[in-house]
Amino acid sequence: MGQHTVLVANRGEVALRIQRACRLLGHRVVQVYSEADRDSLPVKMADQAVCIGKAASNMSYLNPIAILGAAKLTGAEAIHPGYGFLSERAEFADQVRAEGLVFVGPSGKSISLMGEKSVARDMAKKAGVPTVPGSPGLLNDLDHARSIAKEIGYPVLLKATAGVGGRGMRVVDSEAMLAKAYQEASTEAELAFGDRGLYMEKYLRDPRHIEVQVLSDGHTTITLGERDCSAQRRRQKIIEEGPSPGIPESMRAPLLDAARSLAQSIHYENAGTVEFIVSGSDFYFMEMNTRIQVEHPVTEVLTGVDLVAEQLEIAFGKRLSGAEKNIPARGHALECRINAEDPAENFRPSPGCLTSVHFPAGPWVRVDSHCFPGYVVPPFYDSMIAKLIVWGRDRHEAIRRAYQALSEVRMEGIKTNVDFLKTLLMDPAFQAGQMHTQYVEREMLTA
Ligand code: ADP
Ligand code: ADP
Ligand code: MG
Repeated sequence: MGQHTVLVANRGEVALRIQRACRLLGHRVVQVYSEADRDSLPVKMADQAVCIGKAASNMSYLNPIAILGAAKLTGAEAIHPGYGFLSERAEFADQVRAEGLVFVGPSGKSISLMGEKSVARDMAKKAGVPTVPGSPGLLNDLDHARSIAKEIGYPVLLKATAGVGGRGMRVVDSEAMLAKAYQEASTEAELAFGDRGLYMEKYLRDPRHIEVQVLSDGHTTITLGERDCSAQRRRQKIIEEGPSPGIPESMRAPLLDAARSLAQSIHYENAGTVEFIVSGSDFYFMEMNTRIQVEHPVTEVLTGVDLVAEQLEIAFGKRLSGAEKNIPARGHALECRINAEDPAENFRPSPGCLTSVHFPAGPWVRVDSHCFPGYVVPPFYDSMIAKLIVWGRDRHEAIRRAYQALSEVRMEGIKTNVDFLKTLLMDPAFQAGQMHTQYVEREMLTA
């Protein structure tokens, strides 16, 4: 136990979340920050803070040299990357380790295997995990794309192999649209991710997004149940919950086993999430996120496991007992992502000064946020500024508790999606547990 110095290479709510786990384990915290985050809560709360550059991410949170320099300067022994930023850059994980430091995450090899999504699909298939019908590996060219689309049938989805954050995807309804879509998708992928590689999947109609949390030490993999993230807008998650209200009980064990098989097959180490797409009575592997996820508190609340503390302990050499193959969920949990954005203006980001803020509390209510009265939400980063997580004995109770907690939120000075979240919780399809990934956009946001 304890007494290491851990550098937090992230910002916002997840930086605070990592700091909490560090302190719980008795570690010293070094927080790096950009000029835009000088007055932020993670900086105030850390044992030591180091400015690593300008506001723009690529001048600070995406700059490995600045971060490794800060680690050297402060005597940090480990680096936790959080989510986003450098968390899924294999070279960064390798660099950190080459400096003799601990990277709180999987090996560079695992990150690069799973980060190239077309390769991940092939690995999943090899591990006996079902994948969506589509291209083996990357598409070579337009002719290749055409022949695979013909084989699997339209509509198809062109996906950037390096895609993240719900970006780099294009639905193609018919062969007539394929050439243009192929051209545009590869150009966009090149611009956004520096990699024009595309792969193809059958585009599934109104599926659910269900993912499995795993913890692995390179030998033993345990699963910690599933999360349902079907409430999405533009392929980005809005509300996540567990257990999933949308899968038959008979699907749960095979789903958990599939996630475990994939993690085992690559000797995965640390926390990870295997994402699946579920259509009717079938589930298919979609991708693996080789990091802590935004929605990890859902699982923490359901299982009682502190996932970030586990990440640190595994990184410092702890072995999992493996006595329990799956840690069961108790009751029901929901997470609502509170964003600085204006639903009336097509969810345009709404940075600025949060003149006043009050968060809910009470039984089984958790708020993860770096906000405080007078905090200025910078325009440079993700618009998510708080997460509300609640627990209930059953789904109905959890939904009611979430609604009530959202009603207590007061945020002035900027626009937020809080009222939209309340509308979503009250939506009949949501209440009936019938959410699918297209529902919000098609049924709630088109007039
Ligand atoms: P999760 O399930 O954890 O939400 P996402 O794929 O939605 O997974 O992304 C997680 C985080 O990664 C986002 O909240 C965002 O901060 C970050 N992110 C998304 N897209 C990018 C990108 N293109 N570059 C860097 N970070 C990104
Ligand atoms: P990212 O790396 O950006 O998170 P994913 O592959 O996880 O990309 O897909 C993000 C979202 O896109 C999914 O949650 C789902 O809503 C949608 N999606 C992905 N693949 C398909 C598919 N084959 N059919 C229908 N929807 C899909
Ligand atoms: Mg995903």
